Amino acid sequence: MKAHDGMYIDGAWRPAAGRDVIEVVNPADEQVIATVPAGTAEDVAAAVRAARAALPGWAAAPPAERAARLAALRDVLAARKDEIAETVTAELGSPPAFSQAVHASVPIAVAGSYADLAATYAFEEKVGNSTVFHEPVGVVGAITPWNYPLHQIVAKVAPALAAGCTVVLKPAEDTPLTAQLFAEAVDEAGIPAGVVNLVTGLGPVAGQALAEHPDVDLVSFTGSTAVGKRIGAAAGAAVKRVALELGGKSANVILPSADLAKAVNVGVANVMSNSGQTCSAWTRMLVHRDRYDEAVRLAAAAAAKYGDRIGPLVNAKQLQRVRGYIDQGVAEGARLVAGGPEAPRERGYFVSPTVLADVTPDMTVAQEEIFGPVLSVLRYDDEDDALRIANGTVYGLAGAVWAGDEAEAVAFARRMDTGQVDINGGRFNPLAPFGGYKQSGVGRELGRHGLAEYLQTKSLQF
Ligand code: NAD
Repeated sequence: MKAHDGMYIDGAWRPAAGRDVIEVVNPADEQVIATVPAGTAEDVAAAVRAARAALPGWAAAPPAERAARLAALRDVLAARKDEIAETVTAELGSPPAFSQAVHASVPIAVAGSYADLAATYAFEEKVGNSTVFHEPVGVVGAITPWNYPLHQIVAKVAPALAAGCTVVLKPAEDTPLTAQLFAEAVDEAGIPAGVVNLVTGLGPVAGQALAEHPDVDLVSFTGSTAVGKRIGAAAGAAVKRVALELGGKSANVILPSADLAKAVNVGVANVMSNSGQTCSAWTRMLVHRDRYDEAVRLAAAAAAKYGDRIGPLVNAKQLQRVRGYIDQGVAEGARLVAGGPEAPRERGYFVSPTVLADVTPDMTVAQEEIFGPVLSVLRYDDEDDALRIANGTVYGLAGAVWAGDEAEAVAFARRMDTGQVDINGGRFNPLAPFGGYKQSGVGRELGRHGLAEYLQTKSLQF
């Protein structure tokens, strides 16, 4: 795999300050495919300086010019779609078809949506005797995870650019090659030097230096709740804006009137896609006690059918973690009806699609984010019981409701403490706000709600 041995700072690939490197491993065969530099606080400082210097020019660029650059970025991503999909497959392990259909395609749609929004958003409005300007927040520190490597970069960088902010990006250590491709695309799209800068490196070194840098105005983080809490605390102490997109433990609520087979099959596919490494996955399936046994049979069959189509987990640590959760589920009384902790292949970080039945709401596997292809099936007595279980975790990122009647599903969804709910299998909408209630996060991404995160208001009175 092609890799740059420098950082993309101020419009050029520049040597890293230190000599340490990060090895990039293909999780399907455990081979090292590339190395990238492990950035230090010095690299971060250089990148923040470049972003600060570029800010006045980019913030003052007419929205139509920012829109044109974002449209160019969308076009470059589209032209390099195959290369992006191959790179995501190589470093994340995602099956090629999923890399094409999701990892490479969704970012094109999101970049395009921000090209449109930059051109049409009301950056100035009248409120009584005032004119209110929506101005860029400033320099953004974007810290992203590995599970949707390009989507999570574009979901931060595109709205930041549309708003007139400049960015320093620190991508996850497992997927830096996709981030380097993105920096190449930024360059090719003619985005001015310093507007987007890339520092690869370890979270506790480069990530922490970026999150704590005094000249960063907004930290936008997606990743684990543990790191998110630390970043939120540091931002609070510095009176700095922060956006956090953290974990989830979403509920797929199948009401008694639902088409059970459809709800179960779509639910299993939702959990297994991307090998279960999706923060908004519906990892708890809630079924009425009268239809419970049938649902478990259907879920086990759907998981077994998924079988070989699943990719590996991202790394050895995640593999151990996910196996540990399956063991713990069984130890706490869950019944394994598909998959299990055993390695299905000799090489690679694979886990079989796994279904745990007889899971009760207090079990660890019903409370904690597993981040692997593991579905827990829970039983409820009536709607109020289903709602208590659905809302009974610290998280509130996503969810699903299935019912024979759409209005019945909507009424239930309105009572859920969660940021987005799919009704009877509703499709992903790249313009709809995405983000969490409770400990799933602070702030929203995507669409105009995502753009607003990167703006601050100034009002002039007349
Ligand atoms: P993580 O939170 O450690 O990493 C996410 C990003 O934060 C990476 O870029 C990382 O380098 C950076 N980071 C790590 N420590 C940092 C620090 N002290 N300061 C600043 N930045 C730091 O997540 P992980 O270890 O890759 O995954 C662990 C768990 O997190 C997963 O099992 C899963 O539960 C959860 N996760 C959630 C999402 C999501 O989309 N919500 C994505 C990935 C992982």
